[in-house]
Amino acid sequence: HIFYVTVETRDRLVPLETDELKPFRDLPPSDVKAADALEPLADGKYVLHRRALLKADITIRQGVINIPGKGFFRIEKGGPRKFKAYRIQHNQVRGPYKGGIRYHKECSLDLFKTLAADMTWKTAISEVPFGGAKGGIRIDPFAYSKEEMEHVTLRYVYKLKNLMGPFLDIPAPDVGTNGEIMAYMMRQFTDGEREHHKLRGVVTGKDVRIGGSEGRVKATGQGVVYCIEEWARERKLELKGARVLIQGFGNVGSATAEILSALGAKIVAVNDVNGTIQRDAGLDVAALVHHVHQNPQNLRRTVAGFPGGTAISKDDFWGIDADILVPAALGEEIDGPVAERLKVKLVAEGANGPTTREGDRVLGARGIEVIPDIICNAGGVTVSYYEWLQNQRLEHWSEAEVNGRLEQAIKKNYAIIRDIARNRPQRTPLYDSRPYCVGQTVDVRTAAM
Ligand code: GLU
Repeated sequence: HIFYVTVETRDRLVPLETDELKPFRDLPPSDVKAADALEPLADGKYVLHRRALLKADITIRQGVINIPGKGFFRIEKGGPRKFKAYRIQHNQVRGPYKGGIRYHKECSLDLFKTLAADMTWKTAISEVPFGGAKGGIRIDPFAYSKEEMEHVTLRYVYKLKNLMGPFLDIPAPDVGTNGEIMAYMMRQFTDGEREHHKLRGVVTGKDVRIGGSEGRVKATGQGVVYCIEEWARERKLELKGARVLIQGFGNVGSATAEILSALGAKIVAVNDVNGTIQRDAGLDVAALVHHVHQNPQNLRRTVAGFPGGTAISKDDFWGIDADILVPAALGEEIDGPVAERLKVKLVAEGANGPTTREGDRVLGARGIEVIPDIICNAGGVTVSYYEWLQNQRLEHWSEAEVNGRLEQAIKKNYAIIRDIARNRPQRTPLYDSRPYCVGQTVDVRTAAM
């Protein structure tokens, strides 16, 4: 399903470029209490809340305003804006369509198709009784205010309402969305319904207070760590002191880093879209989480500028000597050249599709092991299923119970996929047409259906 969502955006203040400043040098400062009137956006702009301006003494010349302490801005008129939106429902043979909602400035039909198909396989391998779906909106969430993102979300659900439901299609968070967005989705879906409690399972990844599950926020990272633990145990490697690289510090990257460092691993470098930081003795993960996720000044939610580490280039990041790399950002980061550079023993795929075919071939040839995304990051959708179950039964499980079940489920999947990998005749050529037959264990083709 491809459609548009239209929302009314607010007026914005766009900083004047230096060469535009000249005619406005003598513009008197306006008495604007920035805290009430201006909401900062990550691109240097501000959303202008006009109501707060009514009380202020302001001077505007040719649409330009001088705000003390902030500088000169041009007022950009808000108005209706159209965004392209998607929901791909790939497969429902094993249960309702299931998969995340991604808000990102670069996303396409092809991307959502791929991610939806990945969900079909992920739920099948994890024995979660759901199908596969994915969707989202082509929008840069950092360039819009909270209120605008809420409206975009409400419109998205309004248009999709007949195609969603606890037994039809169940969205969840993904890149650029979180529990707050899920709350908006649930509210719009259940609006006007009399038996709300029967519809709680229409989205997962909700806040615990509105029917979410304990442990869901950290579930994907927790699942990544259960996989890594199994891998390390089988190789008789200690996680204590192990050197780890994390790429991406959103939900998955930060949870993985927190859990691994609690187990004694050293997070030696973290890269994200805006920068890379390194500390050979291991970064202080709690301080980094605070810098990225709790610091209101850090509008882009980036690791860049973290005082407890040294800034390095992305290129140098890939070449750091370490034991484990956890890609937890967007897809196709580990291509052939990156795979050639890596000095790690394991790539644990927290992201969806982080390794290209060429990257995978190179990793195989170099003997670097890969825990593939569809098992490595399945913790998220697995706990989504637990959340959905709790919603159906009107139950609330403890975090210990959720994690106990998750650990069992992930470690079992890990063993199945490990056996498939071991019984494969050889690693190259990849993608041959022979079915992956796992001797006496399972045939994934039947396991999947
Ligand atoms: N977006 C997550 C994923 O890619 C979670 C999906 C879900 O819980 O439905 O697996």
